[in-house]
Amino acid sequence: MNAPILRPDSALAGAAPSGAAMPDPSGATPVMAQYFDAKARQPDALVFFRMGDFYELFFEDAQRASAAIGITLTYRGTHGGQPIPMAGVPAHAAEAYLAKLIRAGFKVAVCEQMEDPAEAKKRGGKSIVRRDLVRVVTPGTLTEEGLLDARGSNRLAAIAVRGGQAAVASAELSTGEVECLLVQVSGLASALAAIGPSETLVPDRLFADEAVSAALKTAGGVIQPMASALAEPSASETRLKRLYGVDTLDGFGTLAGAEISALGLIAAHLETTQAGRLPALRPPRRAGEADVMAIDPATRASLEIEKTLSGGRDGSLLSVIDRTVTAPGARLLAARLARPLLSPAAIDARLDAIGWLMERRALRERLRVLLKSAGDMARSLSRLALGRGGPRDLGALRDGLGAAEALAALFAAEPEPPTTVPAPAPEEIAQALAALDPSAHPALSSLLAELRTGLGEELPAQARDGGFVGASISPDLDQARALRDDSRRVILGLESRLQAESGVSLKIRHNAVLGYFVDATAKQAEALMAPPLNALFIHRQTTANQVRFTTVELADLDAKIAQAGERALAIEVSIFEAWRAEACRAAGQIQAAAEGLARLDVAAGLAEWAEDAGAVRPDVDGSLCFDAEGARHPVVEAAVRRAGEAFTPNNCCLDGAGAAGARLSIVTGPNMAGKSTFLRQNALLAILAQAGCYVPARRLKLGVVDRLFSRVGAGDDLARGRSTFMAEMVETAAILTQATPRSFVILDEIGRGTATYDGLAIAWACAEALHDTNRCRGLFATHYHELAVLEERLAFVSNLSLKAKEWNGDLVFLHEAGPGPADRSYGVQVARLAGVPPTVVARAREVLDRLESQQHTASGLEDLPLFAAAAEAAPAAAVGPSEADKALAQMDVDGMSPREALDALYRLKAIARP
Ligand code: ADP
Repeated sequence: MNAPILRPDSALAGAAPSGAAMPDPSGATPVMAQYFDAKARQPDALVFFRMGDFYELFFEDAQRASAAIGITLTYRGTHGGQPIPMAGVPAHAAEAYLAKLIRAGFKVAVCEQMEDPAEAKKRGGKSIVRRDLVRVVTPGTLTEEGLLDARGSNRLAAIAVRGGQAAVASAELSTGEVECLLVQVSGLASALAAIGPSETLVPDRLFADEAVSAALKTAGGVIQPMASALAEPSASETRLKRLYGVDTLDGFGTLAGAEISALGLIAAHLETTQAGRLPALRPPRRAGEADVMAIDPATRASLEIEKTLSGGRDGSLLSVIDRTVTAPGARLLAARLARPLLSPAAIDARLDAIGWLMERRALRERLRVLLKSAGDMARSLSRLALGRGGPRDLGALRDGLGAAEALAALFAAEPEPPTTVPAPAPEEIAQALAALDPSAHPALSSLLAELRTGLGEELPAQARDGGFVGASISPDLDQARALRDDSRRVILGLESRLQAESGVSLKIRHNAVLGYFVDATAKQAEALMAPPLNALFIHRQTTANQVRFTTVELADLDAKIAQAGERALAIEVSIFEAWRAEACRAAGQIQAAAEGLARLDVAAGLAEWAEDAGAVRPDVDGSLCFDAEGARHPVVEAAVRRAGEAFTPNNCCLDGAGAAGARLSIVTGPNMAGKSTFLRQNALLAILAQAGCYVPARRLKLGVVDRLFSRVGAGDDLARGRSTFMAEMVETAAILTQATPRSFVILDEIGRGTATYDGLAIAWACAEALHDTNRCRGLFATHYHELAVLEERLAFVSNLSLKAKEWNGDLVFLHEAGPGPADRSYGVQVARLAGVPPTVVARAREVLDRLESQQHTASGLEDLPLFAAAAEAAPAAAVGPSEADKALAQMDVDGMSPREALDALYRLKAIARP
């Protein structure tokens, strides 16, 4: 699906404006003038305008939101003589509505009340509450727990092109991670696919660039056009410095122009959407095309790496290998799988960590138990930094830092003597641990100590809800609370006193509007309103069933309690602010600790999976070899096992250098024999190995793959809903132009979507090109057995086939890949297995026998009744142009009169007559 493009004028289908333009703001009431001001600053977003307990939408915004998510449309007051359309959502439930609107493709600008209504009143009776835009919510800038998938990332990307070089920057606002990938323009699609952004910022002028537009078509999420001026290098540099609070960008290494522009776009977008609040971003982690395996969107989709073709996580490679126990660990694993590495040393570093933890099962067990208690520190910290966090986020920091401390201690104690692997922890683990050890990070240990003693167990989401600071933290707070609670006891006493004095079993209750009040039924109220009790009870409110009173004493107490409560709350909020500030000051260290935890989680989770799945450490180097022994497809294997069967392991040996045999294998075998599984499992091995995971095989030796391509022929491509031959050919073209001798290509039934000879011709030519020109390693599954002869004609081609045999008239699939081509297709047998009626199967066998006896030509079918008629009509084998052809060629149809045309027709008919 093409990425939707957010535009000021015409957004998505669901979010299309209803037509009415914004009304003229002149003559607006003061509150509406405030609204118009906010709307003018964010004309292309829906404005959530805070009014008391609701966020209200007005005018066209109200109509659009109402149409999109079904909130009730009403009217409130008038403007310019017309009623004002309005729709509102309760503030406490705003997140759910925000989620729906964002999903429907809207941007939402939140305009908050910036002061207490009481404060506004102090300025004079007519003063209105100050309001301001605090944030624009877009898909790529979400930070709320409720709007995010805990185990999935949510990235904001930006692309820029300078001097022929392209950069894709991405920021995960919810964790502070920033990345920058420098690529060729032709590599944009792969780079974007590796990131999987939910929003991509694109300078306007790039829409005119064909290559960029093509890449954007395959990008997921929404595309947000940006003014090209925002990507200018000097403006970008200034913004970037502001974002990071630095005077120079030198600390980030030498950034290329495109990188600065792309990062600058992100900075610009954050400035507008976060309304000046600066997120705690980490320095950009940079990579180039030489660092990560390029996997284009079609390959990613067909290999079902992070999600299946139908879009779910279940059944993907990721879902099968993911044994992480924390959300940040799950996100890190997904990121690694999306971007396999190219450097054998970096890959080995990850593999070392897995191996080390596989040797230490007890340590790993304890490690995983401790990790489970760690919260999502990075996301909580981000919310705190952006002023959206609450006590629960501090709680997550406390739990995370606590887990980090316990983990550091656990490793320091080294409870288990190393077995075969020497004692020192490998670099990957040592680095993670170094970021955890609180004794090495005083800021972390002091924050942890404070939160441990100060923060309660039951934590509210918002600081203003209070009740999260423990006792004995602040004498002032203790005092205010004592006063408040004491007065509550006094109220209980007052209630029984008033009951005794009045003889009425009245109740003292509390609500936000009245504070404490005496609540009586209408019948009880009669006594309270009659002398002598009416001297004591002061009427306040009559509702349908109740009458409410106060007394002088109750009003006094109410004021005292309210004051004490407010004071206690104010103190709690100031303590929260102090902790928040402390956390923000330690942001870098908290993020590093959070990453340390995630890395340990990934390593331990992969060790766990390797043990369960019997996976082994791959041997990855700079060669061009691919030698897998006893390899399995992790996802199909899991499915086959669930069905109570065994998966047959297979070998695959390709040598790009051509020394140890073929680099391209033609894979044949009947349908259902396991060709697709075999192809994919080998591609998945390369991904797993280079992502730094163990592999489901007995042995794998792999020379790093720079680009991985997987193409599925049109006939097999139904799941993607675009089973067109054209799409298949476009994708094939991309491989033939891009695959290098270091690449790995799997082609499954290419050329199937057209007529037999066309398809065979295309498949043949593609195989030759891969062999002669691209010289990449590859597996080419085909049902054209004719391709088997390529083994003899091309130096580095071999035949492989997935075996099946007929047994007692039944076809048995062995799922075993062996040398040599398949002896036959067994298509008719497969048809029988599939339940095609016996008469049809028998007839097909008859036709097949005839064809085979005639050496694969259709001429032997002419005496079969079905084909006889067609054969009669068919022209004799071409032997040059006929007389009629020649006559036709000479005719000038445009220059003929109707009469001449008729004559010509008669002439032609005469020539054509036998
Ligand atoms: P093809 O591409 O040849 O039509 P597939 O690769 O789609 O065949 O495999 C068909 C089915 O055979 C799979 O869904 C799976 O259940 C089973 N299968 C494939 N390979 C194996 C194997 N190596 N071991 C066991 N079962 C397998």
